[in-house]
Formats: sequence, C-alpha cells, structure tokens
Amino acid sequence: MGTDSNRHEFRAEVQQLLDLMVHSLYSNKDVFLRELISNASDALDRLRFEQLTDEALRSDRALEIQLKPDAEARTLTISDNGIGMSRDEVIENLGTIARSGTKAFLAKVQAMENAKEQAAPELIGQFGVGFYSSFMVAKEVEVVTRRAGEETATRWVSTGDGGYTLEDAERDEPGTTIVLKLEDADDDDHMKDFSDEHVLRDVVKRYSDFVAYPVKLVTWKEKEGSEAKVLEEQTLNSQKAIWARNKDDVTKEEYEEFYKHISHDWSPPLAHVPVKIEGTFEAQALLFIPERAPFDLFHPEMKRGVQLYVKRVFIMDECKELMPAFLRFVKGVVDAQDLSLNVSREILQKDRQIAAIRKQLVKKTFDKLAEIMNDDRERYEGFWAQFGGALKEALVSGNDKERDRVLELSLTRSTQDTSKWTSLAEYVRRMKEGQDKIYYLAGPSLEAVQHSPHLEGFAAKGYEVLFFTDPIDEIWLSRGSTFDGKSFVSVGKGEVELGSDEEKAEAEKAREEKERAHKDLLSAIRSYLQEDVKEVRMSGRLTSSAACLVGDAGDMTPQMEKIMKQLGQEVPKTKRVLELNPEHAVLAKLQTIYDADAGSPDLETYAKLLYGQSILAEGGMLDDPAEFSKLVSDLMTRAS
Ligand code: ADP
Ligand code: MG
Repeated sequence: MGTDSNRHEFRAEVQQLLDLMVHSLYSNKDVFLRELISNASDALDRLRFEQLTDEALRSDRALEIQLKPDAEARTLTISDNGIGMSRDEVIENLGTIARSGTKAFLAKVQAMENAKEQAAPELIGQFGVGFYSSFMVAKEVEVVTRRAGEETATRWVSTGDGGYTLEDAERDEPGTTIVLKLEDADDDDHMKDFSDEHVLRDVVKRYSDFVAYPVKLVTWKEKEGSEAKVLEEQTLNSQKAIWARNKDDVTKEEYEEFYKHISHDWSPPLAHVPVKIEGTFEAQALLFIPERAPFDLFHPEMKRGVQLYVKRVFIMDECKELMPAFLRFVKGVVDAQDLSLNVSREILQKDRQIAAIRKQLVKKTFDKLAEIMNDDRERYEGFWAQFGGALKEALVSGNDKERDRVLELSLTRSTQDTSKWTSLAEYVRRMKEGQDKIYYLAGPSLEAVQHSPHLEGFAAKGYEVLFFTDPIDEIWLSRGSTFDGKSFVSVGKGEVELGSDEEKAEAEKAREEKERAHKDLLSAIRSYLQEDVKEVRMSGRLTSSAACLVGDAGDMTPQMEKIMKQLGQEVPKTKRVLELNPEHAVLAKLQTIYDADAGSPDLETYAKLLYGQSILAEGGMLDDPAEFSKLVSDLMTRAS
C-alpha cells in the first residue's frame, strides 16, 4: 500500500465511522441519497453565491442534480454542476472528519458500544453523517470533481477499507460526479435496489422534494418500434419553497420532511411556526421547534439553526443575527424580499430590517410556546425539560420584553409537589393571603435542595417554596428580577419573618430572649468558626434541624461562587451566618457543657460538626471531609 504514491490512508476516526456504516447501521439505508443530494444542493448554493461576486464563474448552464441508475452495471451516479472541490479540498473533506457533529457522533457510538448497547440507526439521521453514508449501499465509491475556476479535476476512489486513491482526472465542466458501485442486493435482504428508478423516485420524493434545484432522473429508454435508445430526463422533485406556500395547503408530512431536510433530525419537530412579515418590507419564514435537544446545546460551537434566503436564493447557514442565542435550537428558513443578494455578515449586524425580522421571529416563537403551554401541558413539559435551560439564558442576556416572556414560559419544581412542574403564575395563584414575595431556594440539584433545612420554617407555616437548580438560575435571581410585580426572595438568605405582623413580633421577641440566654455560648461557638462564619445567631427558620447556614441578602451563594470560579474569576470566600435552632436538644446540650467548663475541647468539636452538617444538609461540599469524618468517629467512640 505504502509504495503506491496515489494511495492515502483515512484518518483513524474516518475508518471507524466507515466500519460502522457498513456493519452496524444497516436499517434505513435510504438516507444516503438524501445526504448526497443535500451535499449536491449545498455545492450548487455555494456556486450560485460565488457567482454573485465572481463574474468568471457565471455560465448559462442550469444548475441541477442528476441521478443516473444503471441496473446492468449495478451502479448509481449522482452528479451536480456546483462548486466542486480542488485536490486539497477533496483530501480535507473526504479524508478527515472535520465536523464537530461527526466527531460527537462517533463519541456517542463508542459510548454505546462500551456500554454494550447496539448503536441505533437513528443516530445517523440525528447527526447527519453525510458523505460517508454512501458506504452503507456501495462497495466502492468514485468521486470525480472539478472546482469552479480550476481546469483539472481530481478522482477519488475508495472501497471504504483503510484508505483511498487520488489522481488527476478530467471533467467537462465544474462540479462533482459520484459513482456508487452498489452492493449486491441478494447479499442483504433489507436492501432496496438503488439502481431501480422506482426506488429512486420514491426516495427523492420523500426526502428531497424541497431541494431548490431540479433533481433529474436520467435513463435510457427504448425508442418505440426501434432498437435505438434515447436519453430521457425527468424531474423528480417539486422544488417548491414550502415557506412561500399558503400554510393551509401544506400537509403535516410535508412540514416534517422539510424539517428533516434542513435539520438532519430524525424525529419530527415538536411544532412548526410559519411567519409572514408584511408592510414596509417583506419576509417569510418557517421555523421549527425540535422535540429533542441536540447533544451540543450548551456547547459554544453548536450549529445554529436558521438559514437566510433572499428572494429564494440561499445566502447563508447559521444566521446568528436572526435569532438570539437563547433560541439557538430553533431551526428554519427566513426568506427576505428586500435585502441585497450579496449581503454580508457585517451588513446584517447593523441592518434594521434584520433586527425587525428577528423581533418578529422571537415573538412568534414565544407565542407558539405559550400556545403549547396552554393547550398541551404535557407536551410543553417535554419541551421545557429539553430546552428550558437554554431558554432561561434570556433572563440574563435578553431585553426586558424577552425576560418577561421567558418568565411566563418558565417551569420549575416546588415544595408543593417535587415531582411536578409549576409555572410562576400557578405559584402566584397559590400564594398565601398576605404573601407578597416569591420564595425560592436555589442549589445544584433537586436532590440537594428538597431536603434543605432552610425549608423547615416555611413548610411548618405552609408557605410554598420554588426550587431553582440550573446553573443560570443563580445569576438571574441575583439580579433582582420580579414576576407579576413580586420579588424573588431566597429562603437561604437574610432573616426570615413569616406570618402576620403579630406573629412576627412574637417570634422576634422569643428569638431575642433565647439569644440573650445563650449569648456567651454563641460567641464561644463563633470564636471556633472564625474562618468560616461571620455570625452565629438563633434561627427563625428551623423546626427539626439543629443548624443551617444563611447568607445576607446581597451575598454570593456557594453555588454562585462555584460558577464564578468555573468562569475563571477570582472570588473571595463569602462567610455566611450560622443559625442555630433554639428549640433543638443540641443547643441545650452545648449550654450544659459550656456551663460546666467554658473551655471544654468538646465545644470546638461540636461547633465544627454543626458547621459541617449545615453544609452537607444543603447539598454542599466540605472543604476538609477527612477532618469532619474524624470528628464524627471521635464523637462515636466517646458516646459508647
Ligand atoms: P457536510 O455536508 O455536513 O459538511 P458531508 O460528509 O456530507 O458533511 O460532506 C463533507 C464535505 O465534503 C462537505 O462539507 C463539502 O465540503 C464536501 N462535499 C461533499 N459533497 C460535495 C459535492 N457534491 N460538491 C462539493 N463538495 C462536496
Ligand atoms: Mg452533507
């Protein structure tokens, strides 16, 4: 192999992918055709785009995609007169895996194999593995391609094992021709015959009907009454811009197929959102809300979903200017009537039309989500579980209007029933008489917050508390947000006053009395915890736990500290307040020890244990778990 200079090895990960295509993912092989047609369509888009600025690339040839089946030779040829590839581009695009999506796909498949699970065939559709899927149906693939603007072509041939060969070739015009030597049909009962024109017609109609260029079937037909054969061409796809059609004329199936075409998602979307903008300028859009979050939703390089067209001409993918980041999972197409075709990213950023379109798209998406929330709560909860974390970014990065709408759309858990989602409006409706604040507890997970001692007093008095457990929650909550005119108050911060004014005053008095009674003990405990707490006081929020830690209203929570550290920020340790339960037996015990010997070493042990316990109870991490554990075992030894 190594002696043949034309021979190149695949990168290891390409080979892995190919093995998978051939051996594991055998059902639904149809998708290879969608992938190749979509690549051809991309290549035509790119040529058309480059033609706008480069006159030398213009020609009279109609842009199209051809399928030529040959049943006798058992081949299928797919060609396009698009942008083509140079030799270097062939090596880069067909010999390595450059796309992060494909890499993630491989990682996922490997994880499944390690877990001894069969990799599901849907994965290909979900990730859009593209060109390599041709090896699902072909034992050999030949690509002859010529880059527009260049004279020589390149031939790439591979059987999918180990490597490929490259050599110079000729091609009459720029574009790409892919010849698939089809696997023998009888080797595999599941396999359709892709050299059969009926099969092709069917598959193109199903997956590629909306492709903006004609997909032509080219066959030799016998001339009537003679032996001679003539070439016949038939266009298989309707090419109709689905977003431009009257929405009542488009079937659900058509919407779904279009969604799959642009998103490479295997499953149908959760909802589609047709948008028509009329007035001083015009635009049409068709947006989709997926059902499942992509694997990289929180990855900065996640592929954004909205494509920009101008007067039916594809301009660009991943148009960030059309959708805010918190809606990055929305897929779709925007077709603007009044933009110039050679609009650039720089122009887009400042363009008033784009800003106005974006505003409409966001509004229509919110409207659709609100509609689902109202009409089909279960479906909405499914959506929220997948995308709520991303949507809530609007509470930090969005404008006032966007923030308000996302708060309306937000679901969370609460003490009412931790297994159920609640909206903020529903919480407000359940608020106790006289309650004017929304009580919440934020933390790293539901498990961590739901048993937190901070809730005890609220539970005892019948106040419902919301749980916020996404990393972003701490950030927007710390910015003094309000909902329905009510502020959010953390039950883990500040001093709590619950109940009627009378009850409050009474509780306050009782607490002060206790504080006075245990004054010296409290300051002794404080002296042992100098490094960790700024105050030790009697609590109004505990009923069964002995102690808990609370922050002052403006303090950073431990969770927030962690986020800031992850973001690479220096954060000083925030000391909190240790609150003790005045009714707890531990307090009485401590007082007895103190009264017997104010210098007893047991006091320090107890103080440290109470502090450690309070951290553990709120789901936190101890700075020195070994020391805590030693204190516990010392105590156990003494107890017996
Ligand atoms: P994707 O289309 O998602 O980028 P593929 O595996 O389908 O991934 O294709 C890999 C790359 O090969 C494409 O990005 C493109 O650069 C190139 N390519 C594939 N088919 C063609 C074609 N018909 N014409 C020009 N370039 C192509
Ligand atoms: Mg592709």
